Amino acid sequence: MRAQIEILAALQNVDREIKEKNNTRGVLLEEFRKGEEQIRGIKLEVAQLTSAWSERDKLRQGKEQLLQEEGRKATDKRMRMNRIKNIRELQALQYEVDQIKQANAQIETEVIAILEDLETRTAALKQKEEELSGLETAWNEKKREIETQVAEIERAVSEASSGRHTIARQINGDLIARYELIFARRGGMAVVAVAGGICQGCFMNIPPQLSNEIMKSETLHLCPSCHRILYSKPAVAEDKHDKYI
Ligand SMILES: [Zn+2]
Repeated sequence: MRAQIEILAALQNVDREIKEKNNTRGVLLEEFRKGEEQIRGIKLEVAQLTSAWSERDKLRQGKEQLLQEEGRKATDKRMRMNRIKNIRELQALQYEVDQIKQANAQIETEVIAILEDLETRTAALKQKEEELSGLETAWNEKKREIETQVAEIERAVSEASSGRHTIARQINGDLIARYELIFARRGGMAVVAVAGGICQGCFMNIPPQLSNEIMKSETLHLCPSCHRILYSKPAVAEDKHDKYI
């Protein structure tokens, strides 16, 4: 059993490495997603500002066209006034011309307001476009960096996975299944040492009798508190461990 658990501990090292790499990969992919989302959001803002600008400009064009048409009508009426002698007709035409003038003055005021509004909109649009362009440049670089990192991690994970396969072949299938269950439930730590009568997974005391049995390593023992697979740590390794503290 000791040999099996030692191999299992080696398997756990590989699994922890894979788990850690996959976590890093997940963080990077999330960063990637957020970056893309931010660019998409600003692109959408630019598109909305552009379409609102165009709409206002179309309104301006319509009003300017109306001004021209009405201006032509007023000119025609004034020409007709030159040929008319009847005073009533003249007065009626003059009234019409005045009405057009008044209406056009109103339209001109509206056009000026739209032009001022367009100026503000143009500035806002330009600012947003510059923001987008700056962010895009930075993001494209960052994106390549993330893609390279993810590719490296995936390569390392695939390498570690084939190494894992080689190790796993040496362990009894039931034991692996049990180990994997504990690994998943106990945060990627399924095989732990007992050092100084203490489980190194949950740091609870292991009863002395169980400690003795673990040292004999004849059968599989689980920690009574955290249910992880226990093995006894050789004294040498413990000294080494102490030096690091
Ligand atoms: Zn424990």
